[in-house]
Amino acid sequence: MPESKLELDSDNAVYRTLLESTKAIPWKIDWATMKFAYIGPQIEPLLGWKQDSWLTVDDWATRMHPEDRDYVVNFCVSQSKAGVDHEADYRALTKNDGYVWIRDVVHVVRNEQGEVDSLIGFMFDISERKKGEEKLVALQKELEALSFKDSLTGVANRRKFESVLDTEWASARRNGQPLSLIVVDVDFFKQYNDYYGHIRGDECLKQIAQALGLSVTRSRDLVARFGGEEFVLVLPETDAEAVLHVAERCKRKLENLQIPHEASSIGRFVTASMGVGTIRPSPEMESKHFVEAVDKLLYKAKQNGRNRIEFENL
Ligand code: GH3
Ligand code: MG
Ligand code: MG
Repeated sequence: MPESKLELDSDNAVYRTLLESTKAIPWKIDWATMKFAYIGPQIEPLLGWKQDSWLTVDDWATRMHPEDRDYVVNFCVSQSKAGVDHEADYRALTKNDGYVWIRDVVHVVRNEQGEVDSLIGFMFDISERKKGEEKLVALQKELEALSFKDSLTGVANRRKFESVLDTEWASARRNGQPLSLIVVDVDFFKQYNDYYGHIRGDECLKQIAQALGLSVTRSRDLVARFGGEEFVLVLPETDAEAVLHVAERCKRKLENLQIPHEASSIGRFVTASMGVGTIRPSPEMESKHFVEAVDKLLYKAKQNGRNRIEFENL
């Protein structure tokens, strides 16, 4: 039937024009031979390799960033064998030794018996998108550095602590109000990590942060992670009696968590030591000296056996 043959030919021509004028690069691999049956001419302007230099899947695999190769090849082969359509992002090698980020979208074609016959797909140049993503990751890191939140535990970070302490120090001095500080340090936490591993260690710190958060009630109270396994509580307008109540509550809440600590020398559960101080700042005093004094109290708590509170009216 010459008419329909003509139609088919002109259809093919239309398809070919369509395929070769898009930015995406079409290709076809014959599954039995693992050879390219077709690849769009757009491949040459993008990567520099001539259209007729793409012969087998090996050409595809070798022209890939070595760090991406194993993962991408194994993934694509296993998906294809299973007859599953898939897509993969990787860096394709250019003729002049550069790399272009590609997203390969693959459709698995089966024959009438349901066996894999060929793979057809499109390669998309996603370098611009990847650049955008990389910028975003860098930006997120920058934001975290500028943020006031500790990313592990979700409580305030040291930056926030320093900023709040400055404000509250000035306010206490101006108003002649007492300001209190609690420094909490987990006991034998190195042993905890060694015994249970870092992941469990991180989980433990999260739980401790949460318990400390539940130990304070006023909106101006601050719980912050000072660093490592140390936390600090800033309690404005809080005198000696009140801060001791809060410290006792912290201790109780930590005890109630009952986090097992087989490697601790002082008990079966995770405990912490605390330095607690109260002050009415005078004009000539600096807040950092207050922090240092409370830190000494923490040291004293460690010296005196751990899992205890050392207090001083400074
Ligand atoms: P002490 O009772 O004298 O405080 O002993 P310690 O073992 O708790 O004290 P040390 O300062 O020697 O050890 C602190 C440990 O805390 C060491 C470090 O590996 C661990 N650590 C610090 N930051 C993190 C963290 O973010 N995650 C985890 N899992 N561990 C941390
Ligand atoms: Mg410590
Ligand atoms: Mg410790």
